[in-house]
Amino acid sequence: MDIENILTSFSLKKTKVRKDVLSLFFHFNYALSQSDIIKELKFAYDETTIYRTINIFESKNIIHKIPDNLKKSSYAVNKELKTGKCSGDIHIHFHCDSCGHNFCISPEAEIKVKLPDNLLVSFVNIIANGLCSKCNDKNIQEN
Ligand SMILES: [Zn+2]
Ligand SMILES: [Zn+2]
Repeated sequence: MDIENILTSFSLKKTKVRKDVLSLFFHFNYALSQSDIIKELKFAYDETTIYRTINIFESKNIIHKIPDNLKKSSYAVNKELKTGKCSGDIHIHFHCDSCGHNFCISPEAEIKVKLPDNLLVSFVNIIANGLCSKCNDKNIQEN
């Protein structure tokens, strides 16, 4: 889906900052932290404008937050917007211990989590840690 169409379909005005922030999520294959986004766009916008844009995208479910063990949360664009396919189910997040990037991973089989009925679950967070393919390649070459 094209950036402008996404904004229109979520009833958001197509401001330049929204287009620029959303484009970044499609440009990188890993999840972006607030500081990654600020680093890319600080010459064009102030931090408050960027934070506000991220919050709007999160509240509209255009992006989702990936909590990180290191307190540096990052965000990824929701998969159905990237692939055009609606997944809607639980997916794994992968944290690379070497480069520190987070990735959304589609599991090969659907993950079903059954919790006691008296719990109201709002969010399930599964994080796998290790080396991403890029860092793992480097690791193999060096050894
Ligand atoms: Zn890595
Ligand atoms: Zn994700």
